[in-house]
Amino acid sequence: MPPTHSVSPITLSCSRCGSVLAPHAGHAECPTCGGLLELRRAPPALHGPALARLFAGRRGALDGADASGVWRFRELLAAADGDVITFPEGNTPLLDGGIAARWAGIPGLRLKHEGLNPTGSFKDRGMTVGITQARLIGARAVACASTGNTAASLAAYAARAGVPALVCIPAHRVALGKLAQALAYGARTLLVRGDFDACLRLVREAAHRLGVYLLNSVNPYRLEGQKTIVFELLEQCAWQAPDWIALPAGNLGNTAAFGMALRDAREANLIDRVPRLLAVQAEGAAPFAESFREGFVSRHRVTPNTVATAINIGDPASYDRGVRSIRDTNGIVTTVSDAEILEAKAAVDAAGIGCEPASAAAVAGVKRLVREGIITAGSRVVGVLTGHVLKDPEALVRYHRDIQPTPALANRPIEIDATVKDFERALDGLGTGGAR
Ligand SMILES: *Cc1c(COP(=O)(O)O)cnc(C)c1O
Ligand SMILES: [Zn+2]
Repeated sequence: MPPTHSVSPITLSCSRCGSVLAPHAGHAECPTCGGLLELRRAPPALHGPALARLFAGRRGALDGADASGVWRFRELLAAADGDVITFPEGNTPLLDGGIAARWAGIPGLRLKHEGLNPTGSFKDRGMTVGITQARLIGARAVACASTGNTAASLAAYAARAGVPALVCIPAHRVALGKLAQALAYGARTLLVRGDFDACLRLVREAAHRLGVYLLNSVNPYRLEGQKTIVFELLEQCAWQAPDWIALPAGNLGNTAAFGMALRDAREANLIDRVPRLLAVQAEGAAPFAESFREGFVSRHRVTPNTVATAINIGDPASYDRGVRSIRDTNGIVTTVSDAEILEAKAAVDAAGIGCEPASAAAVAGVKRLVREGIITAGSRVVGVLTGHVLKDPEALVRYHRDIQPTPALANRPIEIDATVKDFERALDGLGTGGAR
């Protein structure tokens, strides 16, 4: 494919010590101090409606970078976009929440379904940029620590790019669908005896010593791609910013990317006001919420324990960037219990939409803020569903079939004899409310 666009100068520097690095030197973190790296690019030549028209005009493209819901926003991405590895990804729907909206108490709640990306999570948006960069610098191999979705995404994109991949996953805390994908797409899959935070420490050290390219969300190219969730969502709102954007928060890569994207969109005059971010953590893995409650005076670390494996993280790597996103958007960080997460998930699933447990935390968080009177019923709220319903079939079936006492939204399967009489009894049960 010929270069689709002239590459504008990109700078890479350390947000902690200020070191300036060559963008293509292969660093995912500062080699001097270990700090997070920041990418910058010149502002786009177009802005406001003209820029919006350029993005929209690419949407009908049949192939190449324009067909991607990431790369069609390339004027706002600090990334080389010459020869991209794309499925394509993105271009996900913004759905009306149906019964999930009523469950949350916000009739107008809309859900941006990132679970409909090629490997079933928003991680694909960051990975197309990260893998494109890995190939550009000639990485000998790529690696990540993952609760599962980053591994699934990395495995698929690395396979497409023909780059060897290693993924480190907590041995006892990975959802079945995600493990299945990492194996299927051919990544060298390391089941690490430890939690996600231990996996991340390991790959950081390994990347540093062995020259493997690190593709966790500390890698700034990943965040560039993830910004497009917000660009696309705003485009789907006709660039009329909603009042709130709710998302689950684990390692805070997405929280960081959302804040960056809103800053970019505002600077490019695509929106005239900035929505408030609502970052939602599980009670059992809520170090960021703890810091928020104290006005971010200190950073916390916890031993995480939640059913929502994608946010089962005790020491979020993008903490500093996450704080900035919440501050810049007058945002809120809240928590929800595992029971609330599972009920929210059952509501999203029963709406015919479906998502994995971590994603449902966003919807449960919206319900909590409605209950607290912080989000009002007439507000325009978009919840981001981060992962697909089939990622965690075990948690799903346990909820509907096994948990005692029967949860409020459980859809118990009914075993019957192969008789029309039994079938008819089940049919009659539907009219009177049946399983729900
Ligand atoms: C990665 C992931 C998250 C958490 O995102 P962070 O950027 O780590 O905060 C939430 N939900 C799903 C489904 C994920 O895959
Ligand atoms: Zn540094």
